[in-house]
Amino acid sequence: MAQTIITRFPPSPTGYLHLGGARTAIFNWLYARHNHGRFVLRIEDTDVQRSTDESVNAIFEAMEWLGIDWDEGPYFQSERFDIYKKYIDRLISSGNAYYCTCTPEEVDAMRNAAKERGDNPRYDGSCREKNLPWQEGAVVRFKTPLTGNTVVEDMIRGDIAFSNTELDDFIIARGDGSPMYNLAVVIDDITMNINTIIRGDDHISNTPKQILLYQALGAKVPDFGHVPMVLGPDKSRLSKRHGAMSVTAYRDMGYHPDAMVNFLVRLGWSHGDQEFFTRKELIDKFDLDHIGRSAGVFNPEKLLALNAEHIRNAPADSLAAHLLPFLQEKGIAVEAGAYLYGVIETLKPRSKTFVEMADGAAFYFVEKPEYDEKAAAKFLKPALLGPMKQLTDAVSGMAEFNEKNLEDIFKQVMEDSGLGFGKVAQPVRVALTGKTVSPGIFEMMLALGKEKVISRLCDAVAYIERVSE
Ligand code: GLU
Repeated sequence: MAQTIITRFPPSPTGYLHLGGARTAIFNWLYARHNHGRFVLRIEDTDVQRSTDESVNAIFEAMEWLGIDWDEGPYFQSERFDIYKKYIDRLISSGNAYYCTCTPEEVDAMRNAAKERGDNPRYDGSCREKNLPWQEGAVVRFKTPLTGNTVVEDMIRGDIAFSNTELDDFIIARGDGSPMYNLAVVIDDITMNINTIIRGDDHISNTPKQILLYQALGAKVPDFGHVPMVLGPDKSRLSKRHGAMSVTAYRDMGYHPDAMVNFLVRLGWSHGDQEFFTRKELIDKFDLDHIGRSAGVFNPEKLLALNAEHIRNAPADSLAAHLLPFLQEKGIAVEAGAYLYGVIETLKPRSKTFVEMADGAAFYFVEKPEYDEKAAAKFLKPALLGPMKQLTDAVSGMAEFNEKNLEDIFKQVMEDSGLGFGKVAQPVRVALTGKTVSPGIFEMMLALGKEKVISRLCDAVAYIERVSE
């Protein structure tokens, strides 16, 4: 039986979840879901100075919004120091690691000396063969082989060979006994049975060190895939200069999480020239063979277009939960239900974000629409009194409030007044919405409902009568 794919996402909680991190999480999550495997969440908070609870919560919040669920965890590295300690001791007693008492100044001098010789700055191995016992403040270094190569068999980039002489005896535990990143990550990945690691290629220089640790511990090396970084439109590494970096900032700007997931996946993975993917399609189709070797370029216009498409394609009731906070922000208290779904249905094709949708929805929920001054002056004028009255009476008398009957009423008014469709529809639009732009007149009237339509038409007739005096 094929092995169960187990992937992980191990963010360091030193800030919000940014776009690049979210993309890494999504790749690992999709790979696990596609293969019916498992996805583990681990918080890498060994750097106690920089890790905060606030960041941990921000990461959970962002993942929840994106809909990236995990099967195991969250594990916290800060709660696993005993486990790391056991492995560090094991590496020392097996002769794969040693205590080093060189001072930072001495190590600096070694590095400078190496540089002067034209070598890479490196620790010179002074304590390597001393077999020092533990003492206060001693760091633990890994005994990197002095010859040979360590090859990263990268699933995305192919084989990458690192000469062991370039790696030096890197530190695996600090003077206070706390583990360094490379050690903690390997112990975690071993003990959590992680067999597939997809991460940014900014980690590629850590990978040979990690592979050496796996080998020293007699553990199976997982499959690695290093994904190119995301670039900004100017081809420099994506940063704040290019727009918001935090995932939840996009939630607050009115983006749909499905659009965000779709967009982030496409920053590195492709399936022919398809751009739009539902979540299910992504799970069905995602693979590592189609992660490109060149960097994905962040294109905010593309994100906006994808967002519009996701909004357009989603069922109204599924959009309601996303829209409600934006309505609330406008002081519109409304609950999910048939009226709201009807409203959303009319706005879906014309809203690029939930901010736009909330703006467009406001008129549906007010007591009386406020007329835009210019629109009222242009369309609610004395000449329209007759046709508007006729229309109002006809709507009031409608047996069944449906599109066909509304169309018939408009036709009758047009025929009797000699006015074209637009000349009748525009005043009605202003009467019902206060504005000259809205969803299609009939769908909008149906969404508003008979009662509101009649009361707003009556108000408009009264308004025209007032201005006619
Ligand atoms: N905590 C590391 C980071 O956030 C994880 C790197 C890894 O995937 O091993 O970059």
